[in-house]
Amino acid sequence: MDNMKYKEITCEKALNKLKRRVPYSWDLNIYRGCEHGCKYCYAMYSHRYMDSNDYFHDIYVKTNIIEQLERQLSSTRWKKEIINIGGVTDSYQPAEEQYKFMPEILKLLIKYKTPAIISTKSDLILRDYDLIDKLSRITYVNVAATITTMDEKLRKLIEPKGAVSNNRFEMLKAFRKTNASVGLHLMPIIPYLTDSYENIDSLFSRARECDVHYVLPGVLYLRGETRKVFFNFIKTQFPNLYNDLLALYKTGGANKEYKDQLYKMVNELRDKYSLSSSYTKPMKEKLSQREHKQLSFFDS
Ligand code: SF4
Repeated sequence: MDNMKYKEITCEKALNKLKRRVPYSWDLNIYRGCEHGCKYCYAMYSHRYMDSNDYFHDIYVKTNIIEQLERQLSSTRWKKEIINIGGVTDSYQPAEEQYKFMPEILKLLIKYKTPAIISTKSDLILRDYDLIDKLSRITYVNVAATITTMDEKLRKLIEPKGAVSNNRFEMLKAFRKTNASVGLHLMPIIPYLTDSYENIDSLFSRARECDVHYVLPGVLYLRGETRKVFFNFIKTQFPNLYNDLLALYKTGGANKEYKDQLYKMVNELRDKYSLSSSYTKPMKEKLSQREHKQLSFFDS
């Protein structure tokens, strides 16, 4: 486990209310810090508030998260709104093999009929298949995998502890047999590294084979600590790209000309494979089914 440290902490709340509805209102993160070690991780800023500056190795574990979650879900004020699980750090990162919080969280979501979005780069989520299957038959669940490249050599450099890309697709395929909606988060697309036609085409092609409900693409964004870590990585591993990337990223986002060209290609490929990029469509359908069921129950 190299020089990994798990630091146990407690939390006052399991669920945090988001300022903006996007379109979910609540966030749940078991861990702070993430072992997957993605070189573009936008959540590195969140360690600023902790007693550590090593986001990838000092992992804080909220040991009382189950009690706090039950306290919030059992409240009469709880409106069964969608919870985004792992919006900041991956809930199925390696620490979860040891702590096993997710099965308990899923049991509570089942008990309180609460919808959820779970996104991960780990196939450890398959351990909880039966619970997610059960939840998906009660309410809306979305299972999403972020996958950026089919080139394993490159994947190991940019997401060293994430699952093999193909295993992530197999995971999506497995969850397609439940009542959950499943999606590919094709993000971030990294200019000059993962933005080739061949790579994007092969990701869409695998997404089609797995019959996902949607593919959500997004280009790399860099700011603060993420920008520093990313450019250090490029300097060491891909020095020939350093200047071009620096020129492209004068600000946090790639320049407009690049983005216009990229999205033109991405949209063409999305259409080629007849895929949707709306993740709210399955959400609205499932939630309206839920409301319909509840209304029919009251009618009968
Ligand atoms: S899996 Fe997500 S949270 Fe974890 S390091 Fe990668 S980008 Fe960051």
